[in-house]
Amino acid sequence: MSRHKRIALVAHDNQKWDLVQWAKYNRDLLAEHKVFATGTTGRILEEQLAFPITKLQSGPLGGDQQIGSKIAESLIDFLIFFWDPLMPQPHDPDVKALLRMAVVWNVPVACNRASADFMISSPLMDEAYDRLVPDYEAHRNREINRPENVAPVSPPRGKAASEPAAMAVLVPGPPEPRLS
Ligand code: PGA
Repeated sequence: MSRHKRIALVAHDNQKWDLVQWAKYNRDLLAEHKVFATGTTGRILEEQLAFPITKLQSGPLGGDQQIGSKIAESLIDFLIFFWDPLMPQPHDPDVKALLRMAVVWNVPVACNRASADFMISSPLMDEAYDRLVPDYEAHRNREINRPENVAPVSPPRGKAASEPAAMAVLVPGPPEPRLS
């Protein structure tokens, strides 16, 4: 990641003003980077920080998943996510998925103010940083047990050899039930 970081900020409702306070304190530093946020967090932050923020969907409407997907595409360098430890959220699975993506891709993540303070005051904030991206080739290429009646099909002539072979079922399934 370069000197200029792409930072995602997310806070649940009870944590939003905590995040705003933190962000105001660090406003000048944050302004040197590119900030993304879920919809409502982003709207409040933008109005309080007075610099443009890339606002995604509101978290419960898909914003957490959008950030997770940006992490998977290496479009986010670190995540500050003040999630609420005392309140169940309607989008709890999305919250978990976002935190999981950060761990899968070795993206730094801070979930409270103290860790956000440590993160933003790191000397690495001012430098390019070579984040180790885990090698998932073994996972991608893992063997999946194939049913005996399914065989790989060669790609049609003219298709690139690197395209994965399609699968075909060799034995037809049971006949469709007849409607009387
Ligand atoms: P919000 O989403 O910023 O749109 O409130 C945050 C969240 O709950 O993930």
